[in-house]
Amino acid sequence: MYDPKSLVADEFINHEEILATLEYAEKNKSNRELIEQILEKAAPKKTGKGVECAGLTHREASVLLACDIPELNEKMYDLARDIKQAFYGNRIVMFAPLYLSNYCVNQCVYCPYHYQNKEIPRKKLTQDEVRAEVIALQDMGHKRLAIESGEDPVNNPIEYILECIKTIYSIKHKNGAIRRVNVNIAATTVENYRKLKEAGIGTYILFQETYHKESYEKLHPAGPKHNYAYHTEAMDRAMEGGIDDVGLGVLFGLDMYKYEFAGLLMHAEHLEAVHGVGPHTISVPRVKRASDIDPNVFDNSIDDEIFSKLIACIRIAVPYTGMIISTRENETCRNKVLGLGISQISGGSRTSVGGYAGYSTEERPHDTEQFDVSDQRSLDEVVKWLMDLGYIPSFCTACYREGRTGDRFMSLCKVGQIQNCCHPNALMTLQEYLEDYASPETKAVGEALIAKEIHNVTNPKVLEVALKNLENIKNGQRDFRF
Ligand code: SF4
Ligand code: SF4
Repeated sequence: MYDPKSLVADEFINHEEILATLEYAEKNKSNRELIEQILEKAAPKKTGKGVECAGLTHREASVLLACDIPELNEKMYDLARDIKQAFYGNRIVMFAPLYLSNYCVNQCVYCPYHYQNKEIPRKKLTQDEVRAEVIALQDMGHKRLAIESGEDPVNNPIEYILECIKTIYSIKHKNGAIRRVNVNIAATTVENYRKLKEAGIGTYILFQETYHKESYEKLHPAGPKHNYAYHTEAMDRAMEGGIDDVGLGVLFGLDMYKYEFAGLLMHAEHLEAVHGVGPHTISVPRVKRASDIDPNVFDNSIDDEIFSKLIACIRIAVPYTGMIISTRENETCRNKVLGLGISQISGGSRTSVGGYAGYSTEERPHDTEQFDVSDQRSLDEVVKWLMDLGYIPSFCTACYREGRTGDRFMSLCKVGQIQNCCHPNALMTLQEYLEDYASPETKAVGEALIAKEIHNVTNPKVLEVALKNLENIKNGQRDFRF
């Protein structure tokens, strides 16, 4: 039985409900009246407190995804852009992945770190190597990391992860600092989630990979990750352990995308129903080529057009959830989807263990790489590219450091209040980046952008403080935030 409030995976991600949803969506894919109603329901509305969006249920959103009326699809893209503009403006938050270890006891058939891959060297960073990687990342200008590790209780126990987090936060190289560490490690126990919370992590990220249980079990034939229920119920344990910002994700290309889309939204509805707060972020990776992995063997791969539609539909369905794409996607694709709802991207990423320290911008080690990086530009190039497109690259980490997490963050976000912080914070952290790390060309573009964008801060008090802080940053002070 489908029950979003249940804590049992098969009940909150219910196979029969997904099949019924897909049937309903298929039946209504040309139902103009219904699709227009759904678009109207999802449109941003002005209220006394600001702008609000109702979001959509998984059934409604699935109808949009199936919609085959070209002009309504165009309307849908426009709506996704409007929602993105209303809650995220033209800001894009920057981050980088940091791979700690590729030891793994699982056998995920789409990942080169799977246990049986003997072609790939195994590597785990020592604390000195973590230090070197973090210094390299700080020297690029990063403030926000997502740490990644395979699952291996012997080589990468929770104590190792905690030690790495401590090391990362402790390093202050020149003006650098990592101010938020998000964690992407295997499903674990409530006790371990509590330890991660105490270590001061930002978001706990765990990709579901696929919500289709039968496929899930085939794609994960052995190892602890084989247990679908334990994996699917991980976010509930994380929240029980005190982590209130969690990040969902599906690896598109593993099963039918319409099925995954419905499952993903049901998972978000479940978190909201049980914990009163939906996912902080949703990631949308696609299967990529890697050592021992050929993406062509997955016959459910999706093209750029469907990928864009998925992103637009997620943006409309869960307007307050950040959306992340990685350097798996190339520049053209990233450009296309940025305006449709993406709020965070990685830049200058290395997806190998120890990929940053000791390598120039052009060099990249491939031996321990998890997947091909399609966007190989440096962070400086990505930052300049974003600004040339009219976006503000933001290195902001303010909310988590001000305790604006979980439902506190969501309630501010839901009335558009977060924008009073995000915009000036984006400009101040960009100014820091320009002072400390940017090339002269990027700095010139950034200075002009900040001079223009600062006037979009409408609250006179906030504007006054922000202008003063920008001057202070130019004079060498750091770390201001609203
Ligand atoms: S996806 Fe994660 S759990 Fe699976 S093999 Fe790769 S590193 Fe291990
Ligand atoms: S103010 Fe909060 S929501 Fe806005 S960019 Fe900074 S951390 Fe994110």
